Amino acid sequence: MFKTRILPAIGGLLALIVILVLARTFMPAAEQGVGKSFDFKPNSDRVAKLMSESVRYKTISYGRDKPTSGKALLAYHRYLATSFPKAHKAMTREVVGDYSLLFTWAGSEPVSPSNKPVIFLGHLDVVPVIPGTEGDWKQPPFKGVIADGFIWGRGTLDNKVNIVGLLEAAENMLARGLQPKRTVYFAFGHDEEQGGIDGALEMAKVLEARGVEAEFLIDEGGLVTQGIVPGVEPLMAVIAPAEKGIVTLQLKVVGKGGHSSVPPVQTSIGILGASIAALEANQFPRDFSHTQSFLESVADDMPFVNRLVMKNLWLFKPVVMRQLENDTQIQAGMRTTTAATMISGGIKANVLPIDASAKVNFRILPGETPDTVRARVIQVINDERVQVNFDGSGQRGMGPSPVSPQSGYGWEALTTAIRDTAAPERIIIAPRLLVAATDTRHYRALTSNHYRFTYMQLGASDLGAIHGTNERISVATLNDTVRFFFRMMSRL
Ligand SMILES: [Zn+2]
Repeated sequence: MFKTRILPAIGGLLALIVILVLARTFMPAAEQGVGKSFDFKPNSDRVAKLMSESVRYKTISYGRDKPTSGKALLAYHRYLATSFPKAHKAMTREVVGDYSLLFTWAGSEPVSPSNKPVIFLGHLDVVPVIPGTEGDWKQPPFKGVIADGFIWGRGTLDNKVNIVGLLEAAENMLARGLQPKRTVYFAFGHDEEQGGIDGALEMAKVLEARGVEAEFLIDEGGLVTQGIVPGVEPLMAVIAPAEKGIVTLQLKVVGKGGHSSVPPVQTSIGILGASIAALEANQFPRDFSHTQSFLESVADDMPFVNRLVMKNLWLFKPVVMRQLENDTQIQAGMRTTTAATMISGGIKANVLPIDASAKVNFRILPGETPDTVRARVIQVINDERVQVNFDGSGQRGMGPSPVSPQSGYGWEALTTAIRDTAAPERIIIAPRLLVAATDTRHYRALTSNHYRFTYMQLGASDLGAIHGTNERISVATLNDTVRFFFRMMSRL
């Protein structure tokens, strides 16, 4: 009797779940339609030449102790002035922090609460080529060779694409008599690759002092790609509405020293090692929300089974999370990461160590702060002999960015320009947390709408070239970058 009553109930529940799962599977998410084509083609030869010549300026950031060559930066400034005469005539150009460039393009209508300015960021500096890897480059890193449809060299993707893309878009607009209604700023830092303290931070202060309130800001950190999610075929614009924070903690243990023939059970090195092991064994908790919004945005284009799973994360989340457990890329987007990066201690094999110390670098997920990270580290280590301090004098790290809204004027302006640039091809808009840091963090006071995205289409193999070997950009995608900025600024 018991059986006969409960079985139909279970059957009914199962049927309900199946219906719900299928309904969600076939219910389209946010609109991911096709944009409107527009009639503007950059001069492709000129665009390629601009990038090729830009690469030759060795604006290399080695680190704060060995600053970027001022000579190279100033020479690049002069090059930009002669190469983009209309933009330099129409815009006010200021040099900030000795080498950063702040352009102001006054809008055709006055600044008002409904006509706030828009800021576009880029950076003039590039990372060095790792010594010893020069020979691995198929083309020399600072010659700007144009071959096989690509412009080769350090900085082509990171981030001279924004410099050339923005200025060439403005140059073309001016040639056609176009001017944005809103005031537009270009803020090109010269030390992004070493923290942006002398460049971006100073430019942000200049704008803040002038009382600038921006509608939104566009920076590097997102791109166009295809085929990175199995089974998803259309182009995908990955936009980062947020970025992780960063803090380095120093762990320090002070031992008593002495002869190694009469050691304590644990030396300072042993205590330190155990604390690092504890941190690795007790990773920060996971927050699936950022990964979830990315997966949901591409789910409609997945093959049936994957789509069924992704559109029903309310049911399948535990399974998906287990599947993604060993994917370090995905994990980085899901939790505050822990990376022990430096260690030192001891002076001689038969002498007990006194000081032992290590540095652990954390990349902080939205929702946490450098202080909450430190508090948790102290709690996990749970050993008073281990001192846990912020690394560097007076540096307390940088908290994660707020998550910018995925709606409103800035988001619409950006995603419309992306769709129009891709048209008639369809492109999926996929928001994703950026796990690296950008200059955007210095501009938080100027607007709460920050979108990290450059229209540059990269294949899986070229993604590794950013900061790596064989960095290059295709002439075709650089033309798209110019078209994208042109479309976007024409409509502001
Ligand atoms: Zn960069």
